[in-house]
Amino acid sequence: MSSTNASNQSFFESVQRNFEKAAKFTRFDRGILDQIKACNSILRVKFPVKIGNEIEVIEAYRVQHSHHKLPCKGGIRFSLEVDQEEVMALAALMTYKCAIVNVPFGGGKGGIKIDSKKYSDFELEKITRRYTSELCKKNFIGPGIDVPAPDYGTSSREMTWILDTYASLNPNDINAQACVTGKPIAQGGVRGRAEATGLGVFFGIREACSFQEDMEKLGLPVGIAGKRVIVQGLGNVGYHTAKYFQEAGAKLVGLIEYNGAIYDENGLDVDAVQAHRQKTGGILNFPGAINIADPAEGLEQSCDILIPAALESVIHKDNANRIQAKMVGEAANGPLTSEADEILNKKGILVIPDIYLNAGGVTVSYFEWLKNLSHVRYGRLEKRFSENMYHELIDIIESTTGKKVSELERKTILRGPDEIDLVHSGLEDTMIGSYREIRDIYTSQEGVKDLRTAAFICAINKIGVSYEQLGIFP
Ligand code: GLU
Repeated sequence: MSSTNASNQSFFESVQRNFEKAAKFTRFDRGILDQIKACNSILRVKFPVKIGNEIEVIEAYRVQHSHHKLPCKGGIRFSLEVDQEEVMALAALMTYKCAIVNVPFGGGKGGIKIDSKKYSDFELEKITRRYTSELCKKNFIGPGIDVPAPDYGTSSREMTWILDTYASLNPNDINAQACVTGKPIAQGGVRGRAEATGLGVFFGIREACSFQEDMEKLGLPVGIAGKRVIVQGLGNVGYHTAKYFQEAGAKLVGLIEYNGAIYDENGLDVDAVQAHRQKTGGILNFPGAINIADPAEGLEQSCDILIPAALESVIHKDNANRIQAKMVGEAANGPLTSEADEILNKKGILVIPDIYLNAGGVTVSYFEWLKNLSHVRYGRLEKRFSENMYHELIDIIESTTGKKVSELERKTILRGPDEIDLVHSGLEDTMIGSYREIRDIYTSQEGVKDLRTAAFICAINKIGVSYEQLGIFP
């Protein structure tokens, strides 16, 4: 999978084309639109790292797409497909994503062009630390400048190395922990960040499935229970997405990994598949399921909801016509080229776009960043106070009604909020509110035919106003 897919439409071109489709529904001058579209700063570095007895020259990027709000925000990926265009496209998507969910950041993205499977943990640590020191030298990282996070091929482990390197080079920065998000809890991470993108995908699709008239058009009942779902990618995002769908009563009929797919009309258990994968090295030959050797064919199987949760451009003009799903939820960034998007729309498939649907990750990163800046855990101040208030309330209810509440009711009501409760409810509220905002544009603005265009309009309107208010330096 690369940033230039089978149709030769590059990922960046796809993003720009989607932007232009929406721009014509907004009121902004060409100059403002061009400024919103442009990548403001691009850093490309090459640095040497000693691997075994050899010196290897590593190529890496950090792109700050927009400075209309600071810091810039977005993940860092480790992949052999990383190039400047890919990182530019991903950084641009971050700008629109943050605007849609009202997270006050500009978009950014980083990438290191490596196959992480080829390196030992120690070598990966050396590469990550050296990359971070390059970001520090060029002023491309900092709590108020640019804040990385995990992405494809990275996790909380790499974020710890980034934090430690930044903190060592900036010993006077009391806010150093806020220089990166997606950290382990012990390093200043927030509870709920690991599952945030998958949970956000679930909340977003659940909201989409709650509108009777939209579901009727697709010939589907409202709700998640009973829906037949295929998930592509069992990384952090795909795994959690699959898990939440399964818990809500959906049937996971298909799972796709880079080396094969499995399909079972009766439904797969995601944890059992994960255990099988750990034991055998892949998901193929899972008991009771049909093997599909070519993972691309997995996308074309029968289902109600298809959720690509891996890399960009996996659905392009050559396979879009074979997609059988009634809804496509973009958990990955850019899984559809804009040509594929048009084909799916013509087929009447409801596409829920990445710039809304996978924004749960950056939303909870925002909560983590706020936690780091405030230097206090969520819930620490109010938990006991809330519990005492609920206690008093129950006593008043009992004495005025003369009835006792049950032990179970008492326990449920008495619990003050923990950090995880606040993070999950903040995420849920964000995903529901933003879906309604986008759907309102989709249903009320004449000529808007798909949710992606509506989502871009929503983003452009917010960023455009921000640029107008900032004024342009004369
Ligand atoms: N890499 C994730 C994304 O593409 C999260 C970014 C972040 O938390 O800053 O949205």
